[in-house]
Amino acid sequence: MTQINEILKNYYGYDSFRPGQKEIIYNIMRGRDVCAIMPTGAGKSLCYQIPAIAMKGITLVISPLISLMQDQVRILKSVGVPAAYINSSLTPRQTELALSRAMMGMYKLIYVAPERLLTKNFLSFAVNADISLVAVDESHCISMWGQEFRPSYRKISDFTHQLKKRPVVAAFTATADSTVKNDIINKLELVSPYCLTTSFDRPNLYFGTLSFDSGGTSLDDSRIKYITDYVCEHKDESGIVYCLTKKDTELAAQILRDNGCRARAYHAGMPSEERRIIQEDFTFGRTKVIAATSAFGMGIDKPDVRYVLHYGMPARIEDYYQQAGRAGRDGEPSECILLYSYRDYYIIKEYFILRERGDDEKKQDGLTDEEREEYICAQLEALDKMKNYAVSKRVCLRRQLVEYFGEKIGSTCKNCSVCLGDINRRSGNQEKLKLSEYDEELYIRLKAKAKVLSIRYGIPVFAVADDKTIMELVREKPQNETQLRRINGFGTVKIRQYGSDFLDVIRDYTKTKQNK
Ligand code: ADP
Ligand code: MG
Repeated sequence: MTQINEILKNYYGYDSFRPGQKEIIYNIMRGRDVCAIMPTGAGKSLCYQIPAIAMKGITLVISPLISLMQDQVRILKSVGVPAAYINSSLTPRQTELALSRAMMGMYKLIYVAPERLLTKNFLSFAVNADISLVAVDESHCISMWGQEFRPSYRKISDFTHQLKKRPVVAAFTATADSTVKNDIINKLELVSPYCLTTSFDRPNLYFGTLSFDSGGTSLDDSRIKYITDYVCEHKDESGIVYCLTKKDTELAAQILRDNGCRARAYHAGMPSEERRIIQEDFTFGRTKVIAATSAFGMGIDKPDVRYVLHYGMPARIEDYYQQAGRAGRDGEPSECILLYSYRDYYIIKEYFILRERGDDEKKQDGLTDEEREEYICAQLEALDKMKNYAVSKRVCLRRQLVEYFGEKIGSTCKNCSVCLGDINRRSGNQEKLKLSEYDEELYIRLKAKAKVLSIRYGIPVFAVADDKTIMELVREKPQNETQLRRINGFGTVKIRQYGSDFLDVIRDYTKTKQNK
């Protein structure tokens, strides 16, 4: 399959596949259904985008989030892949236009929200179109037992039934235990699918815990101070501070701003338009840190989040791992630090869990008293496991996390606060410190160029050239296109588009330095 390696290099600029990607792509292209369970950051998008580029016909990508569709389509277009999205952000006129173009076969990939599938317009396009692949992203949404059930996902199989020829159906998710996985396979009616679960370990993530005795103060000064110091030390980097309450997000964001950090709060109580803007500012790097409740979730597709701090403990390890896992999707070293105090445990237990007993509204939910009591017990048990993680000083944190998901790793990971016996070992931009003064200047110029190009093309800086790629440019100082092609992150399309912009900076720079 040299073809898929070529696509990987030409369109994405990458030299090798990550675990599982090749197998999935291979199976899809052979015409087999797929059910892939891979953690956040594993690179699931590539697994359906590459077959989409390689195969004849159209690929439909079913995705629950509008902002995510827009980001992906923008990035695909920027590397020369014709793509479009159809969702409620389009006017009826725009939808019509997109569909008529789709009908003419102008797109390789079409992102669509599940509730669109059975609409008249969309169906009249789809039944006549040559659809070779239906990729279902975030496919755990189909299951009531998953964390984010969306009834409209149940329409997907009705939709595929109406097509002339059944396409390959490939399901992707980052969170699925065996119940949810079976639900995905059954509800999507996958036919003897190739199932693959890759390791949930994320070696590039550092895990740390710190206990704080809040001493009953509601302001929780020491934790806030820790967060402020941390964020100020990492001002150039993007990060998320997860908080338990809306009030905490506002408080944390305000204090961070007072200390000169570009911070915003984010929670479900904000108008959706405001939330959209905050999210976009974060993706583009205009806002560096978001203090958020768990509402800041699935839609974040930003690969270069360098840290996730938890100001307050989530109710379950699943939630913690999912939120922490938003760090370091690009595979670069990143930190996940949980700042725990007994107050968190108390709040979750008293206000989020036990309150259900007395809540009359909840009593309308159809559960019997006995069932409710069982549910409460399960939640308390999950909370205790979370607390044990937060306060544990002896067992490797990574081991605790992956064992929770049923995996084993060696005894010490050497990348958590238990194994290292400390915290705070990563200083901001570690790798950059190794650069000589000479290189540092080139780094700054290339970074500035990437920023200019990002504005010109309307895509985030990381989609033009991420930090790793820029570091490689600084180290290798390519002087022509052939040398540029050897840089990880530069493929044919990017070279055509921005190659000379970067080469000019490097050549200019080398020349002035030589003349000195
Ligand atoms: P997921 O959907 O599984 O969370 P994404 O598809 O968003 O992950 O990919 C996360 C990041 O990893 C993206 O920035 C993507 O470009 C990058 N990536 C994916 N595959 C590779 C690869 N083979 N080599 C290098 N980077 C990759
Ligand atoms: Mg994804």
